[in-house]
Amino acid sequence: MEIAVIAHDGKKAEMVQFLNEHKEILRQKNITLIATGTTGSQAEKAGFEVCKYLSGPIGGDAQIASRVAEGLCNMVLFFRDPLAKHPHEPDIFMLMRLCDVHNVPLATNPATAELLIKAV
Ligand code: PGA
Repeated sequence: MEIAVIAHDGKKAEMVQFLNEHKEILRQKNITLIATGTTGSQAEKAGFEVCKYLSGPIGGDAQIASRVAEGLCNMVLFFRDPLAKHPHEPDIFMLMRLCDVHNVPLATNPATAELLIKAV
């Protein structure tokens, strides 16, 4: 199972905390973590094995969206910062749209991510 983790700058600390709180699940052999560049680096620093894509603003969200479209990515945990402006807004909406198109579970905040991860 491939799980994408993405966090906007204002949410990266919450993402690392979330990963740490669920490390028993997320470090299982049948789970592959993928991430946008900076989120992935932070997850690596926290001890996770992650396949990193480009940083979000330069195409990372779009790369993950393409994996969703191809049926390769099975879940997206995307901690968005609703109080910040993002130059790559179109990519963010594309990723969320493609999750809906392909019926891929998408959590945009820690509370929902918690529910999804418990179902893994
Ligand atoms: P980042 O990208 O992990 O490279 O910061 C996240 C985003 O802004 O979509």
